Amino acid sequence: MDVVIAGGGAAGLAAALALADDGHRVVVLERGSAPPPGPAARAGEVWRRPTSPQSRHAHTLTSFGVAALRGHAPALLADLLSAGASTVDLTTARPPGEAVPGDAELVALACRRSTFDVVLHRHVAARPGVDLRYGTRVTGLDVTGGRVTGARVGAHVVPADLVLDATGRRAAGRQWSHARGVAPAAVRTGPTSVAAYVRFYRRRGPFGPLNRGNAAGVLADHYAGVLHPGDNGTFSVAFGVLPQDDGLRALRDPEVFDAVGRVTPWVGDWLDDAVPLGDVRVMTCPPNAFHAPESSPTGLVAVGDAVCVTDPLFGRGVSLALAHGFALAGLVRAHAVADLGAAAAALADELLLPWFRQACEEGEDRIARWRASVAGTAADRPPTALRAAGAAAAASRDPELWRGVVRVLMGLDRPDALTAPPFADRVRRALAAGPPLPPPGLPDRSALLAVAARAGRRARVDLASGPDGDRVA
Ligand SMILES: Cc1cc2nc3c(=O)[nH]c(=O)nc-3n(C[C@H](O)[C@H](O)[C@H](O)COP(=O)(O)OP(=O)(O)OC[C@H]3O[C@@H](n4cnc5c(N)ncnc54)[C@H](O)[C@@H]3O)c2cc1C
Repeated sequence: MDVVIAGGGAAGLAAALALADDGHRVVVLERGSAPPPGPAARAGEVWRRPTSPQSRHAHTLTSFGVAALRGHAPALLADLLSAGASTVDLTTARPPGEAVPGDAELVALACRRSTFDVVLHRHVAARPGVDLRYGTRVTGLDVTGGRVTGARVGAHVVPADLVLDATGRRAAGRQWSHARGVAPAAVRTGPTSVAAYVRFYRRRGPFGPLNRGNAAGVLADHYAGVLHPGDNGTFSVAFGVLPQDDGLRALRDPEVFDAVGRVTPWVGDWLDDAVPLGDVRVMTCPPNAFHAPESSPTGLVAVGDAVCVTDPLFGRGVSLALAHGFALAGLVRAHAVADLGAAAAALADELLLPWFRQACEEGEDRIARWRASVAGTAADRPPTALRAAGAAAAASRDPELWRGVVRVLMGLDRPDALTAPPFADRVRRALAAGPPLPPPGLPDRSALLAVAARAGRRARVDLASGPDGDRVA
């Protein structure tokens, strides 16, 4: 079969690999440019990708994403490791206790998104059976007799029996369907309300400990400060704050960013022996979104963020996009094109919808708490399942609680595992013994704002002074 994939992100390229493995002829049309030559880590740093701004931001791949690569694309995983990525054993943070067989799955991939994407693109471009074309924007569908027969690139048609919309969170296929008289289904959304400030560093010494699964840091009552190990001795520090949080807008100043990093528990230690790699990058995160895919014309199927966007604070979008891309190839194996719409809708409900719901629920909870903290009032809400389980795990030394929370955070177990009776009972018992203490050294909001203000003043003085302390004319 001839398959055209619109969009060369994680979802489109995973689908391309799996469909080519099944013997289909695959054309990937990507509007952005090809990665530049040179070692992957360096190429990623200089690759300009205005249509994929998240590729310049913090990144981690969950255990679920690593499992998807191990299961469906082990050669790609090997390429990533050769390019300087590494697997991180998450069990080093497990409270003392017996290991269980599933613990072997608790790994994450330490790799910057920029490096990850270069390796992924090169791997797919070298795959026989895949024709990866850059600088090519799909503008619509060619439809004959109610069936999709190709993808339009301006006046030109690239013929196809099946078109995948892998265009990311803007889900361009919805407009293409609309232009062909098929009204797209309603989109469900939930706010994330996060502005992400990110800076990369290279660390001279060994990596420090990780206290949050594949990350180190805190989800505090008005901001998140998390660190992810990357490839080739790099790591990222990311702060998530409310976009309206004027007090922390100064995080875009590198001096302020580093000062806040130094006082953020678990993050500060890593900065001691690290050199920054460039300035602070800022991005407002997209909302959670779920586009029910069943109302596409026959022969158009969406994949990845084009179906489901989840809060970047959970760092699971690429893992879901890879798994979704690989799983779609399985649907193509099992179904005629005419039946793919219904099968794809069932797959999205099974694979993606629980994570969309969980991200919306956690997002509402977090936004309410952050808003109350910024306003200096109290948020009066019962904790969500993840917050309760996370608190119980933090309050106890119980490896079962730790495992339950980390397995959900890492995508290995679905969110409802946290509310299943034996686990939920354990959570209740742990919380009855007392709430967790805040991480030692966590500054409250006024202390954090004071740190930011002091660093901002210092930066302004440095900027206004020459090397001898004279004012610059
Ligand atoms: C700030 C931020 C941080 C994140 N951090 C993480 C993280 O740590 N871990 C994680 O797993 N996920 C993270 N995510 C989520 C992750 O980036 C997405 O879930 C993932 O990129 C989705 O992959 P995709 O292939 O569906 O879409 P995309 O990566 O958006 O790829 C879509 C591709 O389609 C191309 N395209 C668009 N329109 C057209 C067209 N008309 N024709 C041809 N090509 C087109 C684009 O150029 C792009 O290359 C983060 C997201 C954000 C915003």
